[in-house]
Amino acid sequence: MNLVTGSADALIQRAKSEGEFSPVDLLIMADAGRLYRAKEMGITQAMNIDMTALPEGFYDPEEHWMALTKRARTIMYKKDDQGKLPASMTDLASPEFNDQICVRSSNNIYNQSLVASMILDKGVKATSTWVDGIVDNMARTPKGGDRDQIKAMVAGECRFAIANTYYLGGMLASNDANERQIADQVAVIWTSKDAGGTHVNISGVALAKYAKNIENAQKLIAFMLQKEQQQWYSEVNQEYPVIEGVQWSNILQGFGAFDSQQVDFNQMGKLNGDALKIMDKAGWQ
Ligand code: FE
Repeated sequence: MNLVTGSADALIQRAKSEGEFSPVDLLIMADAGRLYRAKEMGITQAMNIDMTALPEGFYDPEEHWMALTKRARTIMYKKDDQGKLPASMTDLASPEFNDQICVRSSNNIYNQSLVASMILDKGVKATSTWVDGIVDNMARTPKGGDRDQIKAMVAGECRFAIANTYYLGGMLASNDANERQIADQVAVIWTSKDAGGTHVNISGVALAKYAKNIENAQKLIAFMLQKEQQQWYSEVNQEYPVIEGVQWSNILQGFGAFDSQQVDFNQMGKLNGDALKIMDKAGWQ
Protein backbone atom coordinates (compact mmCIF):
# COMPACT_ATOMS: atom_id res chain seq x y z
CA MET A 1 0.00 0.00 0.00
CA ASN A 2 1.17 3.50 -0.77
CA LEU A 3 0.79 6.17 1.82
CA VAL A 4 1.83 9.67 0.85
CA THR A 5 1.78 12.35 3.50
CA GLY A 6 2.40 16.06 3.27
CA SER A 7 0.96 19.32 4.40
CA ALA A 8 1.74 21.06 1.15
CA ASP A 9 -0.66 21.71 -1.66
CA ALA A 10 1.99 20.08 -3.87
CA LEU A 11 0.63 16.73 -2.76
CA ILE A 12 -2.77 17.47 -4.27
CA GLN A 13 -1.16 18.72 -7.46
CA ARG A 14 0.93 15.58 -7.71
CA ALA A 15 -2.04 13.22 -7.44
CA LYS A 16 -3.90 15.38 -9.94
CA SER A 17 -1.15 15.39 -12.56
CA GLU A 18 -0.38 11.67 -12.18
CA GLY A 19 -4.05 10.82 -12.72
CA GLU A 20 -4.77 7.12 -13.04
CA PHE A 21 -1.05 6.36 -12.92
CA SER A 22 -0.76 7.81 -9.44
CA PRO A 23 0.71 5.32 -6.96
CA VAL A 24 -1.12 7.06 -4.12
CA ASP A 25 -3.76 5.20 -2.12
CA LEU A 26 -4.32 7.58 0.75
CA LEU A 27 -3.74 11.28 1.14
CA ILE A 28 -3.10 12.41 4.69
CA MET A 29 -3.36 16.16 5.00
CA ALA A 30 -3.62 18.92 7.55
CA ASP A 31 -6.60 21.25 7.37
CA ALA A 32 -10.13 20.51 6.21
CA GLY A 33 -9.72 23.26 3.61
CA ARG A 34 -7.16 21.12 1.80
CA LEU A 35 -9.21 17.92 2.07
CA TYR A 36 -12.18 19.80 0.64
CA ARG A 37 -9.99 21.12 -2.20
CA ALA A 38 -8.69 17.62 -2.99
CA LYS A 39 -12.26 16.40 -3.43
CA GLU A 40 -13.16 19.44 -5.54
CA MET A 41 -10.22 18.66 -7.82
CA GLY A 42 -11.59 15.19 -8.42
CA ILE A 43 -8.68 13.20 -7.01
CA THR A 44 -10.62 11.38 -4.27
CA GLN A 45 -13.39 8.80 -4.00
CA ALA A 46 -15.88 7.48 -1.45
CA MET A 47 -14.25 5.42 1.29
CA ASN A 48 -17.17 3.21 2.30
CA ILE A 49 -16.07 3.09 5.91
CA ASP A 50 -18.10 3.33 9.08
CA MET A 51 -17.53 6.91 10.22
CA THR A 52 -20.17 7.05 12.92
CA ALA A 53 -17.55 7.17 15.67
CA LEU A 54 -16.63 10.66 14.43
CA PRO A 55 -18.40 13.83 15.53
CA GLU A 56 -20.87 15.37 13.11
CA GLY A 57 -19.19 17.53 10.49
CA PHE A 58 -15.85 15.73 10.85
CA TYR A 59 -16.18 13.90 7.53
CA ASP A 60 -17.25 14.57 3.99
CA PRO A 61 -20.98 13.90 3.46
CA GLU A 62 -20.00 11.64 0.56
CA GLU A 63 -17.25 10.04 2.62
CA HIS A 64 -14.31 11.11 0.44
CA TRP A 65 -12.37 12.28 3.49
CA MET A 66 -12.52 12.19 7.26
CA ALA A 67 -10.75 13.54 10.32
CA LEU A 68 -7.97 11.66 12.09
CA THR A 69 -7.11 14.31 14.67
CA LYS A 70 -8.46 17.66 15.80
CA ARG A 71 -6.33 20.79 16.20
CA ALA A 72 -7.02 24.06 17.96
CA ARG A 73 -5.99 27.54 16.75
CA THR A 74 -6.02 30.13 19.47
CA ILE A 75 -4.47 33.15 21.17
CA MET A 76 -1.19 32.82 23.08
CA TYR A 77 0.41 35.30 25.46
CA LYS A 78 3.30 35.54 27.88
CA LYS A 79 2.51 34.18 31.34
CA ASP A 80 4.05 37.23 33.02
CA ASP A 81 1.90 39.69 31.03
CA GLN A 82 0.15 41.88 33.60
CA GLY A 83 -2.06 43.73 31.09
CA LYS A 84 -5.67 43.17 30.23
CA LEU A 85 -6.16 40.07 28.11
CA PRO A 86 -8.71 39.49 25.33
CA ALA A 87 -11.57 37.28 26.46
CA SER A 88 -12.02 35.61 23.09
CA MET A 89 -10.84 35.50 19.48
CA THR A 90 -13.58 38.04 18.70
CA ASP A 91 -12.34 40.33 21.45
CA LEU A 92 -8.80 40.25 20.06
CA ALA A 93 -9.98 42.51 17.21
CA SER A 94 -11.00 45.26 19.63
CA PRO A 95 -9.08 48.60 19.33
CA GLU A 96 -7.66 48.25 22.84
CA PHE A 97 -5.26 45.63 21.44
CA ASN A 98 -3.93 47.89 18.71
CA ASP A 99 -0.47 46.90 17.37
CA GLN A 100 -0.30 43.87 19.66
CA ILE A 101 -0.81 40.83 17.43
CA CYS A 102 1.65 38.55 15.63
CA VAL A 103 0.00 36.31 13.04
CA ARG A 104 1.16 34.67 9.83
CA SER A 105 0.06 35.73 6.36
CA SER A 106 -3.32 35.26 4.71
CA ASN A 107 -1.93 32.90 2.10
CA ASN A 108 -1.71 30.20 4.77
CA ILE A 109 -4.76 27.96 4.87
CA TYR A 110 -4.91 27.94 8.69
CA ASN A 111 -5.91 31.59 8.74
CA GLN A 112 -8.22 31.15 5.77
CA SER A 113 -10.02 28.37 7.62
CA LEU A 114 -10.17 30.44 10.80
CA VAL A 115 -11.91 33.21 8.85
CA ALA A 116 -14.12 30.77 6.91
CA SER A 117 -15.32 29.21 10.16
CA MET A 118 -16.16 32.66 11.45
CA ILE A 119 -18.25 33.37 8.32
CA LEU A 120 -20.16 30.17 9.06
CA ASP A 121 -20.74 31.19 12.65
CA LYS A 122 -21.25 34.95 12.46
CA GLY A 123 -21.85 35.83 8.79
CA VAL A 124 -19.88 37.87 6.25
CA LYS A 125 -20.46 41.29 7.75
CA ALA A 126 -19.37 40.51 11.30
CA THR A 127 -16.42 38.54 9.95
CA SER A 128 -15.27 41.46 7.76
CA THR A 129 -15.38 43.76 10.77
CA TRP A 130 -13.38 41.24 12.77
CA VAL A 131 -10.75 40.84 10.05
CA ASP A 132 -10.41 44.65 9.73
CA GLY A 133 -9.84 44.83 13.48
CA ILE A 134 -7.23 42.06 13.43
CA VAL A 135 -5.33 43.76 10.59
CA ASP A 136 -5.42 47.06 12.53
CA ASN A 137 -4.10 45.25 15.59
CA MET A 138 -1.14 43.58 13.89
CA ALA A 139 2.17 44.54 15.45
CA ARG A 140 4.04 43.82 12.23
CA THR A 141 3.59 42.73 8.64
CA PRO A 142 2.82 38.99 8.67
CA LYS A 143 5.86 36.77 8.17
CA GLY A 144 6.99 33.29 9.14
CA GLY A 145 5.04 30.30 10.43
CA ASP A 146 3.11 29.77 13.66
CA ARG A 147 6.25 28.98 15.70
CA ASP A 148 7.76 32.28 14.54
CA GLN A 149 4.72 34.15 15.89
CA ILE A 150 5.13 32.47 19.28
CA LYS A 151 8.85 33.28 19.37
CA ALA A 152 8.30 36.90 18.32
CA MET A 153 5.68 37.26 21.05
CA VAL A 154 8.03 35.91 23.73
CA ALA A 155 10.77 38.20 22.38
CA GLY A 156 8.46 41.17 22.96
CA GLU A 157 7.54 42.06 19.37
CA CYS A 158 3.84 41.68 20.19
CA ARG A 159 1.67 40.72 23.17
CA PHE A 160 -0.36 38.05 21.38
CA ALA A 161 0.33 35.32 18.88
CA ILE A 162 -2.31 33.42 16.94
CA ALA A 163 -1.09 29.85 16.50
CA ASN A 164 -2.12 26.21 16.48
CA THR A 165 -1.52 24.69 19.90
CA TYR A 166 0.41 21.69 18.53
CA TYR A 167 3.25 24.06 17.65
CA LEU A 168 3.47 25.15 21.27
CA GLY A 169 3.15 21.49 22.25
CA GLY A 170 5.96 20.58 19.87
CA MET A 171 8.18 23.28 21.37
CA LEU A 172 7.47 22.04 24.90
CA ALA A 173 8.36 18.49 23.83
CA SER A 174 11.43 19.63 21.89
CA ASN A 175 14.96 18.28 22.39
CA ASP A 176 16.13 21.85 21.99
CA ALA A 177 16.41 23.46 25.44
CA ASN A 178 16.03 26.91 23.94
CA GLU A 179 12.68 26.02 22.34
CA ARG A 180 11.45 24.56 25.63
CA GLN A 181 12.61 27.62 27.53
CA ILE A 182 10.62 29.87 25.17
CA ALA A 183 7.50 27.69 25.22
CA ASP A 184 7.56 27.51 29.03
CA GLN A 185 6.79 31.22 29.12
CA VAL A 186 3.61 30.90 27.06
CA ALA A 187 -0.02 30.45 28.06
CA VAL A 188 -3.12 30.01 25.90
CA ILE A 189 -6.46 31.80 25.91
CA TRP A 190 -9.51 29.73 25.02
CA THR A 191 -12.65 31.26 23.55
CA SER A 192 -15.67 30.33 25.66
CA LYS A 193 -18.73 28.55 24.34
CA ASP A 194 -20.79 31.74 24.69
CA ALA A 195 -18.33 33.56 22.46
CA GLY A 196 -18.48 30.83 19.82
CA GLY A 197 -15.87 28.40 21.18
CA THR A 198 -12.23 27.99 20.14
CA HIS A 199 -11.51 27.54 16.45
CA VAL A 200 -10.73 23.93 15.61
CA ASN A 201 -9.66 22.22 12.45
CA ILE A 202 -8.62 18.70 11.52
CA SER A 203 -5.88 16.59 10.09
CA GLY A 204 -7.49 13.98 7.97
CA VAL A 205 -7.30 11.36 5.32
CA ALA A 206 -8.80 11.06 1.86
CA LEU A 207 -9.00 7.99 -0.34
CA ALA A 208 -7.29 8.63 -3.68
CA LYS A 209 -9.48 8.30 -6.76
CA TYR A 210 -7.12 5.81 -8.41
CA ALA A 211 -6.17 3.94 -5.26
CA LYS A 212 -5.01 0.42 -6.13
CA ASN A 213 -5.16 -1.04 -2.63
CA ILE A 214 -8.59 0.02 -1.45
CA GLU A 215 -9.13 -2.82 0.99
CA ASN A 216 -5.86 -2.20 2.80
CA ALA A 217 -6.51 1.52 2.79
CA GLN A 218 -9.89 0.95 4.44
CA LYS A 219 -8.27 -1.32 7.02
CA LEU A 220 -5.62 1.27 7.84
CA ILE A 221 -8.21 4.00 8.33
CA ALA A 222 -10.36 1.81 10.56
CA PHE A 223 -7.19 0.99 12.53
CA MET A 224 -6.34 4.69 12.92
CA LEU A 225 -9.75 5.28 14.48
CA GLN A 226 -9.18 2.78 17.26
CA LYS A 227 -8.53 4.16 20.74
CA GLU A 228 -4.94 3.04 21.06
CA GLN A 229 -3.94 4.45 17.67
CA GLN A 230 -5.83 7.65 18.31
CA GLN A 231 -3.91 8.10 21.54
CA TRP A 232 -0.58 7.35 19.86
CA TYR A 233 -1.23 9.58 16.85
CA SER A 234 -2.50 12.54 18.81
CA GLU A 235 0.41 12.22 21.23
CA VAL A 236 2.95 12.18 18.41
CA ASN A 237 1.61 15.30 16.74
CA GLN A 238 0.26 17.03 19.88
CA GLU A 239 -3.23 17.19 18.40
CA TYR A 240 -6.53 16.07 19.91
CA PRO A 241 -8.09 12.65 19.32
CA VAL A 242 -11.32 12.65 17.31
CA ILE A 243 -13.11 9.85 19.10
CA GLU A 244 -14.52 9.81 22.62
CA GLY A 245 -12.74 8.34 25.59
CA VAL A 246 -9.12 8.82 24.48
CA GLN A 247 -6.69 10.45 26.88
CA TRP A 248 -4.94 13.62 25.79
CA SER A 249 -1.15 13.94 25.96
CA ASN A 250 0.23 15.43 29.18
CA ILE A 251 1.15 18.58 27.31
CA LEU A 252 -2.38 19.05 25.94
CA GLN A 253 -3.80 18.39 29.40
CA GLY A 254 -1.53 21.17 30.61
CA PHE A 255 -3.20 23.63 28.24
CA GLY A 256 -6.51 22.75 29.83
CA ALA A 257 -9.97 21.77 28.63
CA PHE A 258 -11.80 24.04 26.22
CA ASP A 259 -15.03 24.42 24.28
CA SER A 260 -14.64 23.77 20.56
CA GLN A 261 -16.38 25.84 17.96
CA GLN A 262 -19.16 23.78 16.36
CA VAL A 263 -18.05 23.56 12.77
CA ASP A 264 -19.06 21.54 9.75
CA PHE A 265 -15.75 21.17 7.92
CA ASN A 266 -17.36 20.59 4.55
CA GLN A 267 -19.24 23.90 4.86
CA MET A 268 -16.06 25.58 6.06
CA GLY A 269 -14.14 24.28 3.03
CA LYS A 270 -16.77 25.79 0.75
CA LEU A 271 -16.23 29.24 2.25
CA ASN A 272 -12.46 29.31 1.70
CA GLY A 273 -12.70 31.63 -1.31
CA ASP A 274 -15.00 34.06 0.50
CA ALA A 275 -12.61 34.11 3.46
CA LEU A 276 -9.67 34.95 1.23
CA LYS A 277 -11.60 37.80 -0.40
CA ILE A 278 -12.38 39.35 2.99
CA MET A 279 -8.74 39.05 4.05
CA ASP A 280 -7.47 40.59 0.81
CA LYS A 281 -9.89 43.47 1.08
CA ALA A 282 -8.79 44.15 4.65
CA GLY A 283 -5.13 44.20 3.59
CA TRP A 284 -4.10 41.05 5.51
CA GLN A 285 -0.84 40.34 3.71
FE1 FE B 1 0.94 22.97 10.83
